[in-house]
Amino acid sequence: MRSLDISHVALRRRRTKIVATLGPASSSDAMIEALVQAGVNVFRLNFSHGTHEAHAANLERVRRASARFHAHIAVLADLSGPKIRVGTFEGGGVDLCVGERLTVTCADVLGGPGLIPSQYAELARDVRAGDRILLDDGKLELRVESSAGEEVRCTVVQGGRLTDKKGMNLPGVAVSAPSLTAKDRADATFAAARGVDYMALSFVRRAADVVELREHLGPAADRLGIIAKIEKPEALDEIGPILDVVDGIMVARGDLGVEMPPEVVPIVQQELVRRAIAMHKPVIVATQMLESMVENARPTRAEVSDVAWAALSHTDAVMLSAETASGRFPAESVATMDRVLRLVEGYQWQRGQHGHVADAPHLHGVLPPSVALSRATSLLSGDLGVRAVVVLTRSGTTARLVSAARPAAPVVALSGDEAMCRRLNLLWGVVPERLPDAKPDDAVAVARRMGLANPGEPVLLVWDASGEPGASRPTVSILTA
Ligand code: PGA
Ligand code: MN
Repeated sequence: MRSLDISHVALRRRRTKIVATLGPASSSDAMIEALVQAGVNVFRLNFSHGTHEAHAANLERVRRASARFHAHIAVLADLSGPKIRVGTFEGGGVDLCVGERLTVTCADVLGGPGLIPSQYAELARDVRAGDRILLDDGKLELRVESSAGEEVRCTVVQGGRLTDKKGMNLPGVAVSAPSLTAKDRADATFAAARGVDYMALSFVRRAADVVELREHLGPAADRLGIIAKIEKPEALDEIGPILDVVDGIMVARGDLGVEMPPEVVPIVQQELVRRAIAMHKPVIVATQMLESMVENARPTRAEVSDVAWAALSHTDAVMLSAETASGRFPAESVATMDRVLRLVEGYQWQRGQHGHVADAPHLHGVLPPSVALSRATSLLSGDLGVRAVVVLTRSGTTARLVSAARPAAPVVALSGDEAMCRRLNLLWGVVPERLPDAKPDDAVAVARRMGLANPGEPVLLVWDASGEPGASRPTVSILTA
């Protein structure tokens, strides 16, 4: 047996995209520029925290940095959704002891020993005896004994200190709160008016939740992509219909691992990535990927493996949360992710795992011509060893379908529209390039100018000669640079 070869070469063009959350640790021009240079493709504005003014200022900073580095960086506005939280306490917190009996109240009062205020008015109506109430990402647990009027009587099952505004999860409880809260509506209107490229909706339970956001946004919805955050068990039952109506999904492992046992999260992640790719929709794997880098300059081996595993499963993107929003090492976190991803991708590339068409979509019988052609393009990219797949795209559909087939070479997406270039930047392997009135004849010159192909090397060109939007009948040609 040959010795184990670890001399794999990191890919020059990273295929898996990096989403980084902005927050107090990264709200400056200098830091955002550093994060872009370290490899961020998409910035997340987290509307669970921060003011509209702060988000608008960060959006402007990202636009400036993006222009400076010609990077087509996208901005994702993440709406809080019906996240239930506890209220505030006298002295900022309260200690809960195992076996202690206490009351959770829907009344707007200050909490204290034996009394936890909830900001969710329907709590007492939604829960029943025997239900579990998890607090602070599941660190603390209560069991419901009885509920009447505005009050829920509970026993502490897992104790600890509970501080102001910590999250509350009700696993297995059919929460009656609407998915799009009044705050979400205001935040969505604000973010759309500022021109964000993506909008994420938290705690999606069914396709109708996404449709509601689309309707609320009106015509503005056509100018951005909507991402459903999958973090409720109900969403898993409805994943097919949800994937039909969204522009992408996020595997929101933080809340998912509280709403469901943490040991199911890896399996759910794997299945969601597989299903999203089969439906040609981008998927983001999120939360705690390099969590220890909030405090430390180096990640744990388990975290590195988590990032690597996500890339091996061919996810479109991986996300950083506190690491870049409030951590001590935002740029180092991005640089770490970038190195791990490019090395794993180099390994996959050498092993022929790109340009190898994965599962057929969940469709019966024959595939639409555009999907079939994308799959054929991916096979060609590997079999011919092409250096670039150049795609002329108007609606973004052709680029999205080709990306979803995970070809062996970068997908250069040519579009005249800067906003379209930004949206395409979330997709696996896509290198967006703005070129007004791009023509088939431009393909080779672009691939050479971008340093992807040398004279004599093969390049694929995919475009839809019919001129109809939505890529109904694209064609593929084999060109020589
Ligand atoms: P959040 O979403 O960070 O907005 O809670 C991600 C998650 O729950 O994993
Ligand atoms: Mn969440």
